[in-house]
Amino acid sequence: MLDHDAIIIGAGISGLYQLHRLRALGLRARVFEAGTGVGGTWYWNRYPGARFDSESYSYGYSFSPELLQEWSWSEHFAPQPETLRYLNFVADKFDLRRDIQFRSRVTAAHWQEGTRSWEITLEDGSKHTCRFLITAIGPLSAPTMPKIEGVESFRGQSFHTARWPHEPVGFEGKRVAVIGTGATGVQTIQEVAKTAGHLTVFQRTPNWCAPLHNGPITEEEQREIKAGYPEIFRRCDETFACFLHTPDPRGTFEVTPEERLAFWEKLYGERGFGIWQGNFRDILIDRQANAELSAFIAGKIRQRVKDPAVADKLIPKNHGFGTRRVPLETRYYEVYNQPNVTLVDIAETPIERITESGIRTSAAEYAFDIIIYATGFDALTGAFDRIDFRGVDGLRLRDKWQEGPQTYLGMLVEGFPNMMMLMGPHTALGNIPRSIEYLVDWVSGLIGHAQATGITRIETTPEGVASWTDHVKSLGVGLLTNEVDSWMTGVNRNVEGKQTRIIARYSGSAPAYRERCDAAAAAGYPELRLG
Ligand SMILES: Cc1cc2nc3c(=O)[nH]c(=O)nc-3n(C[C@H](O)[C@H](O)[C@H](O)COP(=O)(O)OP(=O)(O)OC[C@H]3O[C@@H](n4cnc5c(N)ncnc54)[C@H](O)[C@@H]3O)c2cc1C
Repeated sequence: MLDHDAIIIGAGISGLYQLHRLRALGLRARVFEAGTGVGGTWYWNRYPGARFDSESYSYGYSFSPELLQEWSWSEHFAPQPETLRYLNFVADKFDLRRDIQFRSRVTAAHWQEGTRSWEITLEDGSKHTCRFLITAIGPLSAPTMPKIEGVESFRGQSFHTARWPHEPVGFEGKRVAVIGTGATGVQTIQEVAKTAGHLTVFQRTPNWCAPLHNGPITEEEQREIKAGYPEIFRRCDETFACFLHTPDPRGTFEVTPEERLAFWEKLYGERGFGIWQGNFRDILIDRQANAELSAFIAGKIRQRVKDPAVADKLIPKNHGFGTRRVPLETRYYEVYNQPNVTLVDIAETPIERITESGIRTSAAEYAFDIIIYATGFDALTGAFDRIDFRGVDGLRLRDKWQEGPQTYLGMLVEGFPNMMMLMGPHTALGNIPRSIEYLVDWVSGLIGHAQATGITRIETTPEGVASWTDHVKSLGVGLLTNEVDSWMTGVNRNVEGKQTRIIARYSGSAPAYRERCDAAAAAGYPELRLG
């Protein structure tokens, strides 16, 4: 007999909800989680300043009306400790912990054709078998260190933001370095700058940032939010990327220059991703529209940063606004007006090595007490690459995806029967929990169907994979985002073999994605071989 009906890898938002749904189907399910607690992203990313850029109330689970009423978010964009408390609250409320095994990193997953099952190996060498394997290992969960010599030689304290210690780290009077200015770097910098003796920011590529405009949720807002949840989630269901923001139907040049400017000023003054997700419909397709918007944002940076030379360094030159993920900030640009903050452009003066006492660039030697690596993740496929997945006839997933991922609906892979991926490559990103809930429901529907009909083997057809993968590729054509190196196009200069752009991300709309998945289920899964 198999040890479990299903094994779920990962106890983040995906894994927790998947466990809840499989239990409801009566399955014996087990979660293996590398960390010591639940929460995934919100368990690992404890760096100072970590918080949402999705509105809190649009991010939480929607599946339980009771949970929605019981939990009160304190801020429009909750900080990480609050989100971690929330996910622990969820785990307790639904009694999830008894089926989660912590400190259990999965190192291998091998398909066993004879028993139509998966054999999972943990880091401690133990083996566990199951019929269905569900990966909930996260789109941004495999941290990457920069490829710089001497990282181990530094004698001070050093941290990767996604492996932040559980104890507080003090910066008062300390000389602190932050390497990296992506979304995480921006959040870290603006927080550390408040107390550090001196903060030196090492920037390779500036990103276009926009104001978050966070604030506490008042009692009246809280009442409105709780009464308005059905409407909030209905709206998220309708929008392109499941955020509360949706593109304006007008084209950038269909309005007068004055109207355009007024609209952008309004968006710049509003909460959250409106300036990115709620802008004119053509800002990520029409080069001229994108250039105009980028010039508007560059103007804002110049207004906010006093030293024109520093402002210029903070303005991206190699990509337009919104073509990479937009970090949302709170007084980020003003940080560079502080006397205790220095910006070092490492595109101009590259880091040569980390030394015992700090960082050496081609131009200078800097001494530090603390180095913070805000160098991000091997995104989308990174967590997959770190597990030895072997399918039918020992086929390695890493080899299968050599030229980029090939999937059916982003959830199944040919040659890897009974394996379903939550938030793997080729699924809709955006406001991620909305996608997660949909994917979990779809996977649960498929497993429920298998249970009801006695099916023990599920595999996608090559035609299914070809048609979905081609569809995903075709959606990327003409998008300015796909002309830029970023984690969204699979490029990570710190990871071997990830120097060329691939299409790892589904760039169509979330409603269109769901429509396609719903249709497949309603038609009885014609692109799956069920037996
Ligand atoms: C700093 C930060 C801020 C973010 N902010 C937002 C936001 O505002 N809005 C938004 O929509 N999204 C945001 N995201 C994206 C975020 O990752 C998703 O919203 C969501 O948390 C993904 O949940 P998940 O359960 O799919 O994956 P994760 O939360 O990444 O959980 C995956 C889990 O799998 C475990 N795991 C991985 N590999 C193994 C293995 N081999 N063995 C055992 N366990 C394993 C990991 O330890 C982890 O606990 C943010 C991401 C980061 C890093």
